[in-house]
Order: sequence, then C-alpha cells, then structure tokens
Amino acid sequence: YPISGDDIRTCFLNFYASRGHKILPSASLVPDDPTVLLTIAGMLQFKPIFLGKEPRSVPCATTSQRCIRTNDIENVGRTTRHHTFFEMLGNFSFGDYFKKEAILWSWELTTKEYKLPPERLWISIFDKDDEAFSIWHDDVGVPKERIKRMGEDDNFWTSGVTGPCGPCSEIYYDFHPDRGHANADLGDDSRFIEFYNLVFMQYNKKEDGSLELLKQKNIDTGMGLERMARILQQVPNNYETDLIFPIIQKAASLAKVSYAKADDSTKTNLKVIGDHMRAIVYLIKDGVLPSNIGRGYVARRLIRRVVRIGRLLGIKGNGEGIQECAFVPELAKTVIELSDQIDPDVKGRTNHILEELKREELRFVQTLERGEKLLDQFLSNALLSSRANGGKPCLDGKDVFLLYDTYGFPVEITTEAAEERGVSLDMNGFDIEMENQRRQSQAAHSAVKLMVGNEVELAQCVPDTEFLGYDMLSAYATVKG
Ligand code: ATP
Ligand code: MG
Ligand code: MG
Ligand code: MG
Repeated sequence: YPISGDDIRTCFLNFYASRGHKILPSASLVPDDPTVLLTIAGMLQFKPIFLGKEPRSVPCATTSQRCIRTNDIENVGRTTRHHTFFEMLGNFSFGDYFKKEAILWSWELTTKEYKLPPERLWISIFDKDDEAFSIWHDDVGVPKERIKRMGEDDNFWTSGVTGPCGPCSEIYYDFHPDRGHANADLGDDSRFIEFYNLVFMQYNKKEDGSLELLKQKNIDTGMGLERMARILQQVPNNYETDLIFPIIQKAASLAKVSYAKADDSTKTNLKVIGDHMRAIVYLIKDGVLPSNIGRGYVARRLIRRVVRIGRLLGIKGNGEGIQECAFVPELAKTVIELSDQIDPDVKGRTNHILEELKREELRFVQTLERGEKLLDQFLSNALLSSRANGGKPCLDGKDVFLLYDTYGFPVEITTEAAEERGVSLDMNGFDIEMENQRRQSQAAHSAVKLMVGNEVELAQCVPDTEFLGYDMLSAYATVKG
C-alpha cells in the first residue's frame, strides 16, 4: 500500500487542524438523539450546535466519525464503495467560515495533500446553487464540463426527516477519463466514486417539511475514509484496502480458500464478512448487545449474517460440537487488532466483545442445527406421503416458510437440500406466507415511527419468537448476487 488508511486519516485531521480546526474524538455509534437509531454521519454530534440549541465550544472542528448505515446493507459487497460500518472524515464550521473556504480547502486537501490529479476530479452541485458553481469554476478553475448540476435527491443533504440541512456539493474521482465528457454519469459505479460531500448547512427542516433559515451559516462535510483509501491505494474496491482486507484474509484462511483465486460469489461473501465484522465489533463496544429490537436487532442481524455466510463458506470449526463453532470471535480479534486509530478504547473491551459474540453465535448455531433436523424430517415426510398417495414429493409452503422465518433458512438452501432428495417446493404456499408476514410487519411499522428513513424497518418490535428470517434471504441473495 502506497499510503496507509491511518495516514490518510491523520493527514485529513492535521490539514484542518492547521487551518484552525479543533480535532475532536469520534462520538459513539449510539447517538444522543432520539430521532436517529445509529450515528449515520459526522454531523450528528454537532446537531444541537447547528440548531442553535447549544453554544459552540469552538468555531470549527474536525473529526473522524465511526458511522453505521443500515440502509446500505444490501449494497455491501455488491457495489465497490458501500459499507454498513465506515469512517467519515469531516470538517465543521459552526457559523464560522462558509462555502468559499470549504470548497477551496477541500480542493487543496484533495489535490495538494492527497495529490489526486485535478483532471480526474468531477464536481456535483445543487442545481440552483450558482454561488457554488462560480466558486468551483471561477476560483478553483474546474472546467464546466466537469461540474454537474443535480437535483434535490442527490444534492440537498438532510440528516433525517427533520433537522439541519442544506444544499451540498460533492467531489467524485474518475477512474476512466478515457471515456470522455459526453454522457458521463456520476452515478456510474464502474467509472466514478463519490468521496467528499460538502454540505452548506443553512436550514432547519421542520415537521411539516418546510425550511427555516438557521441563525448562522454552517459547514458540515463528510469524506469516506475507505473510499479515499481505495483511490490512493489503487485497489479495485474499498474492501481491498488495508482498513478491511486483513479481516477478509482472516476469514479466507478460516474457510481455507484464497481470496485472489476465489470466484465472484465467494469474494462477495468474504467482503460481507469483512464489512459486517467491523460493524459488529464497534456496535458491541458502544454498548449495543444483540437483541430483537432496535439497535440490538441491527447487531443481531449482522452477526447472524456473518455466521450464516461463514458456514456457507465452510467455516464451521472442526465438527466436534457446538463449542468448536465459534469463529466470529476469531474474526473479531483481527478487527480489534486494527482498532487503535479508529477507537483507542476497543482493545480494553476485548474480553467483553469476544464473550458476547461467542454467546450470540452459539445460540444461533443451535437454532440453525435444530432447523437442519427439522428440514430433514420435512423431506422424509414429503417422500413418505408421495409414496403413499402417489404424486410428486413436495415440501409444503408453510414448512418452507417456517424454516425460513424461524430457523433462518434461506429458500435457496432449502431448495438445494430438497432437490438432492428429489423433492420440489410449494413456492406458491411460501409466497402467501411471506405476504402475510409482510402485511403484519407493515402494521408494526406504522405503530412505531421513531426513526429516520430506512431505519424504521429495523426499529420495529420484532415478534418475541426467534426471528431470523428477512436478513437470511437477503444474505443469500447477496451471496448469489
Ligand atoms: P453514495 O451516493 O455513494 O451512497 P452518499 O451520497 O449517500 O454516498 P453522503 O451522505 O454524502 O453519502 O456521505 C458523505 C460521504 O461518506 C460520502 O461521500 C462517502 O465518501 C461516505 N459514505 C457514505 N455512505 C457510505 C457507505 N455506506 N460506505 C462507505 N462510505 C460511505
Ligand atoms: Mg448513500
Ligand atoms: Mg451520493
Ligand atoms: Mg453524498
């Protein structure tokens, strides 16, 4: 690696420190804010200051904030750039400097410190923001072909349903300048990566959706550390940076496969493990224990996905009983080794983290193994009754659903096992059960509307029964993806 992830982080913080910013520590993943489930951005700890509810302690600050975005879970391992857990580097102005300084400094950092070639950089701005256009064009000198005006969805940043917000401007890196300017689409993952977002935070979005001007003009920015590492380390995706790859290598060695030689679906699986393991360790460190509701459900969902995918990869201890099966703590050790600069308090919590992971994994493995026995029974029954009644052996939709919903069996796994024994699946019956489930959980959604955006889904009260379903199917979909 030409530059380490740690050095990229330090470079960012020092750059802004030498421009008057106070370096502050990352806040917890559990925000001090009832409207948000988990810390999704660097600005969250400063929200009361932006809103004028708390006085600023310094005019401007810089942080490397650990974040979790559950809404990106389906993207993990599929896109080259999304994680559930990542670090967001940020510089913040609390009514101090504004648009011009923010843009000029972001450019200086990017081109002088990180030394990215200016001709590789593209800019997005909010379509009505002529001021941003003129700073980028006239002051920085970016040609207009590489400044794209975008709509509200892309370039008006809000931290939640309500709260501080404003137009934003993003910097993208171009991996394929050879493809020219015509028809360039910044959303094209195969060509561009967004790495730095500058938010010109001047409004507060109210309950009724209207915008009111904040008392002062603020700056809130976010640069994805893993994305910058991916660019500077010249690797094909964020996962192969030094921030995550050691975890993947550990998983590969436990599975006795080689990442370099692995097929795409195995690589995707390893990436998901690399991603989720970081989220899990930092969640537990910040006091989130696996459970069936809210944040605890996020942790549970991620841990169980790792267990499931690990088993698919063939990581399963040595077959000498459940005790041997806890591999998640092994992976966590690698995450903890990498933790010094991300959060210096992780190492001191090692035992607690490993214990919690072991407990959760073993509990889940028991459920999975009960499910395997049940599946075996269902298949034998299907064969028996087809012999007795004639007709083709078929697994009842209700049973497929039970395995899926209660025992965490992706349909694909059930199908495979059934096919091996010449049994088909009643998918119509399964779909009906799924639809019922979906309707019930929708009712639960509308009952609990505490959280922002996609997190509503995770904050709902999950039934008291072991609930392993949804995530498992998506895990397998990702696997196949
Ligand atoms: P994308 O469009 O790629 O999903 P975003 O526009 O949702 O990113 P922002 O909300 O603007 O992201 O966050 C600021 C920065 O944080 C991004 O420019 C990116 O560098 C980083 N970032 C955002 N989401 C993720 C993620 N899921 N994994 C890794 N880095 C991320
Ligand atoms: Mg996004
Ligand atoms: Mg974006
Ligand atoms: Mg963005």
